[in-house]
Amino acid sequence: MSNPSLLILPGDGIGPEVMAEVRKIIDWFGAKRGLAFDVSEDLVGGAAYDAHGKPLHDDTMARALAVDAVLLGAVGGPKYDNLDFSVKPERGLLRLRKEMDLFSNLRPAQCFDALADFSSLKKDVVAGLDIMIVRELTSGVYFGEPRGIFEEGNERVGVNTQRYTESEIARVAKSAFELAMRRGKKLCSMEKANVMESGILWREVVTEVAKDYPEVELSHMYADNGAMQLVRWPKQFDVIVTDNLFGDLLSDCAAMLTGSLGMLPSASLGAPMANGRPKALYEPVHGSAPDIAGQAKANPIACILSFAMALRYSFDQGDEAARLEAAIQQVLADGVRTADLMGPEGGVAVTTSGMGDAIIQALDASL
Ligand code: NAD
Repeated sequence: MSNPSLLILPGDGIGPEVMAEVRKIIDWFGAKRGLAFDVSEDLVGGAAYDAHGKPLHDDTMARALAVDAVLLGAVGGPKYDNLDFSVKPERGLLRLRKEMDLFSNLRPAQCFDALADFSSLKKDVVAGLDIMIVRELTSGVYFGEPRGIFEEGNERVGVNTQRYTESEIARVAKSAFELAMRRGKKLCSMEKANVMESGILWREVVTEVAKDYPEVELSHMYADNGAMQLVRWPKQFDVIVTDNLFGDLLSDCAAMLTGSLGMLPSASLGAPMANGRPKALYEPVHGSAPDIAGQAKANPIACILSFAMALRYSFDQGDEAARLEAAIQQVLADGVRTADLMGPEGGVAVTTSGMGDAIIQALDASL
């Protein structure tokens, strides 16, 4: 049987720097755990624009649709800020998400013990936190029609439409239930059924899908209360599922519970392919960080944790994903710190590659 395939798109700014560390980790799993991948690499974002005059070449798009999973670094940078909207680096990423039909966006908020002081919340509120927000990514108010700015009488009116079909709600709900089954078997669905018809339908459809998952404890919460509960006592949640707009806000809010942008991975999943694996794009939440690009300061952990998500959700290697996460936990407990993680208590200052090397050492020690 051939090895699983992985397309790597490092992108711009710190993207290639953090991805170089992920390559070391991928090689480690090949050499030490017999987990070999067929890895290919291509351009996206500004790098693709420089080479081809567009932020994603059609061949790259075709490759992304053919592989088992795509791992992306980051796109964008000041050099490209004045380009026409249609060829901006972000358009490359949006095209990938759209053509792969990645409707389920997974954003974990996990607090590593050694970094609990980094949160703006009290340590006991966030220490040991491990929750997952599932955001619907391809529909809702960001896409609904009609939309636009129209003349109405003697003034303008701005219009966006919140619109969800039953099947759109059902497929993201199903992906959240599947996830809850692999975790703590608790799912909280968030909408505004008190004031929005789309919220009423959301609640009805999620309740219907729940019948296929009797082991999962389902609860419903209004999204505004959800925001309050996330900062009051986030550990009450396991998996949260919500729509595109509320998910955008709630996942950013949850992200900040854990402190640094350099620590946050994400996954965007679509429908299962012929081999049963979901179409999948894994990427850190952060951008291309032009302010630190080329200075060996970038924290590679968000990108490495994105690969850990790929191990778990695309390749069914939950134990190996846990091994990688434990190695990161260990390195942080040992006080190894890139600049963004350096707090008043100090620590062992390392560069981007120094962090990658420390994680490899911790992986070696795990054998
Ligand atoms: P950013 O995430 O790139 O950076 C925000 C701040 O966090 C910066 O101070 C940066 O130095 C720091 N930071 C980010 N990642 C870090 C890491 N791994 N290690 C250490 N520090 C890190 O967001 P921004 O500055 O708003 O955007 C910069 C560029 O990135 C823009 O062109 C933007 O469009 C693009 N962007 C791309 C993505 C993506 O590719 N998914 C996401 C957000 C922004």
